[in-house]
Amino acid sequence: MSPRHIKLSEVGELKLLEQIKRNFAKRSRDILVGIGDDASVLKPLKKNLLVTTDMMIEGIHFDLRFMTPFQLGFKLISVNISDIYAMGGQPSFVLLNIALRKDTKKEFFDEFFMGIQKALNLYRAKLIGGDISSVFKSACLSATILGYCTKHINRKGASVGDKIYVTGNLGDSACGLELLKKIKRPLILHIRSKIKKQKEICRKIFKNISWETVEPLFIRHLMPVVKFPRKFLNNATSMIDISDGLMIDLSRICKESKVGARIYLEKIPVSPELQKVALFLKKDPLKFALSGGEDYEILFTAPSEKNIEAIHIGEITTKSEKVIIDNYGRKKTLSWEGYQHFV
Ligand code: ADP
Ligand code: MG
Repeated sequence: MSPRHIKLSEVGELKLLEQIKRNFAKRSRDILVGIGDDASVLKPLKKNLLVTTDMMIEGIHFDLRFMTPFQLGFKLISVNISDIYAMGGQPSFVLLNIALRKDTKKEFFDEFFMGIQKALNLYRAKLIGGDISSVFKSACLSATILGYCTKHINRKGASVGDKIYVTGNLGDSACGLELLKKIKRPLILHIRSKIKKQKEICRKIFKNISWETVEPLFIRHLMPVVKFPRKFLNNATSMIDISDGLMIDLSRICKESKVGARIYLEKIPVSPELQKVALFLKKDPLKFALSGGEDYEILFTAPSEKNIEAIHIGEITTKSEKVIIDNYGRKKTLSWEGYQHFV
């Protein structure tokens, strides 16, 4: 049988663990014992330690009909790093818990870990342990990341009069997902030789829209790269990463800081690609930008007198005022919409 078709049940846990150990064993001054023992032993720097964990469940957070295992591994690390960055920290150590069906192909496992490795190299983080298990149905993945910071930035801390900023365009990821649902198959984006075929598939479905327009939206959804908000750390009064949608994540800042917000629709940053594709989908690009999730840009507040090189979208107001001002100057009450579990 070709190695591509071997199942995890035929390989066995011990061999898989050996493979992880071989590929990820890292020598580092702050890791005294890494993968391979009952626990890892760290010698942390004399800084504040941040810890975060995030799960990704098949059918809820990801769908393998639209995503390759490589993209899944990469994204799992990115979304966790995003939480560390949103506190003002730098990632350092990663623990990885994965539960896959016994009939999962070994090829899936290998590609998933290649995605993990790519992301760990990008963010300079080290895998120090984890666990593997089997499941009967949906795959469950979870990463725990430890990071360092000298000064952390909470969700609470925004004051009336602060300006509200975001670090980049919003809505691209949600729009990318909408397109993937039309293609109904995974797109391989990181192997140049395969791009030609992907372009053809897209041309058939989205006739008048160029590959250059749709590709950035796919990438934003499938392999988000998160950016450390270094320039803003000195001035930010509150900070959060936009994972569930601008409105929901802004409501979290407001709730924790006990304030309200005024947002200007015309200031919401929307990429030219999203504008074109939304027109094609006959949808309002602002709907993607306000309530689509998984942008992984940073939303933060800073005192109004500070000179901040980010996109200004509104102001913090008193708790009673939660409004959005449209392009004609009309006020509408903000509705905190976005992706919420259990609703
Ligand atoms: P135990 O049975 O004591 O929990 P395991 O056999 O599960 O130990 O794990 C052996 C070693 O492999 C440990 O160091 C563990 O942290 C590491 N490990 C297991 N699964 C993973 C994983 N998914 N990613 C990284 N390291 C892992
Ligand atoms: Mg174990």
